[in-house]
Amino acid sequence: MDETTVQLLCPECAKDWQTSPDELPESKAMFHCPNCHASRRTAEFMRTDRDLQTLKQLG
Ligand SMILES: [Zn+2]
Repeated sequence: MDETTVQLLCPECAKDWQTSPDELPESKAMFHCPNCHASRRTAEFMRTDRDLQTLKQLG
């Protein structure tokens, strides 16, 4: 099993967490913060460029 995870950071409430890219929509799709319900592109929640690349490859 591939246990790759990506780290997320909400630009609005600063919640940080990690999850499997399988659980996320594609980078350009809208994603809602589970804490504050901010709506932004999934790419904007990626903590680092590396997380964004992982999302693009596996999400
Ligand atoms: Zn938030």
